[in-house]
Amino acid sequence: MPNISQFRRVKIVCTLGPSSNSAPMMRSLIDAGLDVARFNFSHGTHDVHESTFKTLREQAKKSGRAVASMQDLQGPKIRLGKLPATGIEIKAGDTILLYPEGASVKTSQTGKRLIPVSTEICGPISKALKKGAMILFDDGKYSAEVKSVNPPEIVAEVKVGGKLSSNKGMNLPGSTLPIASVTEKDYEDLKFGLKLGMDAIALSFVRSPKDIEEVKNFIRKTSNHKPMVIAKIEREEAVNVMEQIVDVTDGVLVARGDMAVEIGAERVPIVQKQLIRVCNEVGVPVITATQMLESMISNPTPTRAEANDVANAVFDGTDAVMLSAETASGQYPLEAVAMMSKVILEAEQFRRQYSRSPDLVPMTGSVVESIEFSASRIADHVGAASIACMTHSGVAARSLSKFRPLRPIVAITDNEEAMRKLAFVWGVQSVLIPDIVSTEDVFETVEKVMKSHKWAEIDDYVVVTAGIPTLRRGTTNMIKVHKMGSLMERAARSVKTKTASRKA
Ligand code: PGA
Ligand code: MN
Repeated sequence: MPNISQFRRVKIVCTLGPSSNSAPMMRSLIDAGLDVARFNFSHGTHDVHESTFKTLREQAKKSGRAVASMQDLQGPKIRLGKLPATGIEIKAGDTILLYPEGASVKTSQTGKRLIPVSTEICGPISKALKKGAMILFDDGKYSAEVKSVNPPEIVAEVKVGGKLSSNKGMNLPGSTLPIASVTEKDYEDLKFGLKLGMDAIALSFVRSPKDIEEVKNFIRKTSNHKPMVIAKIEREEAVNVMEQIVDVTDGVLVARGDMAVEIGAERVPIVQKQLIRVCNEVGVPVITATQMLESMISNPTPTRAEANDVANAVFDGTDAVMLSAETASGQYPLEAVAMMSKVILEAEQFRRQYSRSPDLVPMTGSVVESIEFSASRIADHVGAASIACMTHSGVAARSLSKFRPLRPIVAITDNEEAMRKLAFVWGVQSVLIPDIVSTEDVFETVEKVMKSHKWAEIDDYVVVTAGIPTLRRGTTNMIKVHKMGSLMERAARSVKTKTASRKA
């Protein structure tokens, strides 16, 4: 049996930024394990994103690995306005007055600290906030309780004080906000992302399935390109309807940063498990994100808790884990990816002991799914070197991944976009072939792919799933337990027979 330890199953998403957007660094990150590059549209100009995108495509091509791009839209993140360079110190018991940046203040200012908030958002949120509601600043570090509102202004009493600085985020947990989930800036950014050809679009602060459907409609109307739409779950409202959101989305991101502020850090571990389970049951790829190796922003090694966090996400069944500032602006981007990869590989050796059994995944009764389920079982039983899945749209490979086979999954496809999108999916290694192969060529192609990558040797079994006719969407209808080398044997035999018959 060949060494297949190179098959890391859980994928790695790296946020690109000043620490990682040079060509050599990107190439090193790809070689170390980057599967998906995240473009964070809360930062950076279109020009910088465009040149980073181009470099990524070039470096991915050179490496030969399937690398996907994900545009992360900022969403309705509420932010403080511009504050003095030294910030504003607020203390518990202080009364603060939040007002739209640039407007003149109407409410009496006596004894109040003035805090500007992004102009277009202050009015709407002031109308939604009730007396007693909490306002959190800077990832929940500081807080204030609403005392009264005089739209667009808000008066609040500081509960936990500290130093506020320009543009820091604000969260209003528990308040239903009358602001759109996708802002005008998001739509502008989205048009740009569609033009570039991003493989996935992540939506921040989604609240309901309707938010996803609106964006999908917009994409359909605007462009022929069809990126995956990924829901970032970070608000209470979204947590409450996670099943319905998962039904309409192509991927989920467990956005633990804002989630912890919105619903309380103590609930994050359970919501992570629930979200991953809901996604696993329907085969929607799920990314676990934020602070996974946070300390590696400024240290070459992680904390023990961080190593545990990555391993536990693997055991929970996540498809991918994500790095944010660790790779975007940290001092050790490469070390962070290498460490993440090591922790994943180690945890994966024990996944059957510590993960939920794939037998518990419900079946829908579809042909593709039944085939892939059976292939996954057969491969485990016969100890196949791998499972080769011929796929045009990627659906068959995704379906196979859902059953979490022990044997590695190799997706063979003629569709470059499908190949990149499979970079999000647990366990799938993709190989691009130039043309659609005819039915007779399937096994020869499989042998060639396996041999050239050293993924199987003569006499190894490879379980093959394909459709006849081959590589058309939704045709997967056959399984073969293929013995490597048997085609050559047959060819040799037929040569012998021919020679024999000529002699006769
Ligand atoms: P962000 O999303 O980094 O874009 O805020 C992730 C999170 O909130 O955890
Ligand atoms: Mn967030």
